[in-house]
Amino acid sequence: MLKIDNLKKSYSVDDGTVEALRGVSLEVSEGDFFTFLGPSGSGKSTALRSVAGLEHPDEGEIFIGGQCFYSSKKGILIPANERPIGVVFQSYAIWPHMDVYENIAFPLRRGRTKMADDEIRVRVGEVLEMLGMGEMARRPVITLSGGQQQRVALARALALRPKVLLMDEPLSNLDLKLQIRLRAQMRDLMHELRLTTVHVTHNQAEALETGDRIAVMEQGKIVQLDDPQTIYHHPENEFVARFLGDMN
Ligand code: ADP
Repeated sequence: MLKIDNLKKSYSVDDGTVEALRGVSLEVSEGDFFTFLGPSGSGKSTALRSVAGLEHPDEGEIFIGGQCFYSSKKGILIPANERPIGVVFQSYAIWPHMDVYENIAFPLRRGRTKMADDEIRVRVGEVLEMLGMGEMARRPVITLSGGQQQRVALARALALRPKVLLMDEPLSNLDLKLQIRLRAQMRDLMHELRLTTVHVTHNQAEALETGDRIAVMEQGKIVQLDDPQTIYHHPENEFVARFLGDMN
């Protein structure tokens, strides 16, 4: 469903350049929950933002559902709002002056979908039901808890029926108890929906608990790509062993 080939990206900074991505390649099958795990600065967000179209890589290719959305060779760069993706960030990025319904409906009225009001009503109802928020449609979002606000952000992304859902540190603004509860919920929901998900986290436990496959990143490179059991029990090198070891 998602294929990334040899993605590279450097940033110019005051004292030279930072190689944020140094040739990242991977494939995510339909319905898989894929997790980028690594310390801060290892390139996880740059990889995710490149898939979203929010970052312009220097080199490589990105395919979603077989269609090319970025290719340096072929000179293809499809803008973010024309990519079949949904995005959930760490900061919920919900609109505080709108209620739950409007937060979810807003992107459906514009951009890729431009749906009619009747369709929007059905679609918003569906996702609210899916996330157990049916009663909350008309609640102002500022009256919701952090966990509920994050669920609104997720509902908004799901309402677009994306081919790939991208989540960048979706839980890290929440308190630890809630994070632990939501990890399992998040994984189960995506599996239920058979939604292809790419998730970024620096939290080892979160990655091990949610990912079907985990790419461990170090300085712009994937240093191990495996299922959670293999990553945990058979780290391929010292870096992965240490990073996973830090968990305890
Ligand atoms: P992670 O998500 O793993 O924390 P990032 O992808 O955000 O890592 O960053 C990778 C590297 O690229 C870091 O060294 C970071 O400082 C650098 N970087 C990211 N975005 C920019 C930017 N807009 N300008 C300059 N450097 C950046």
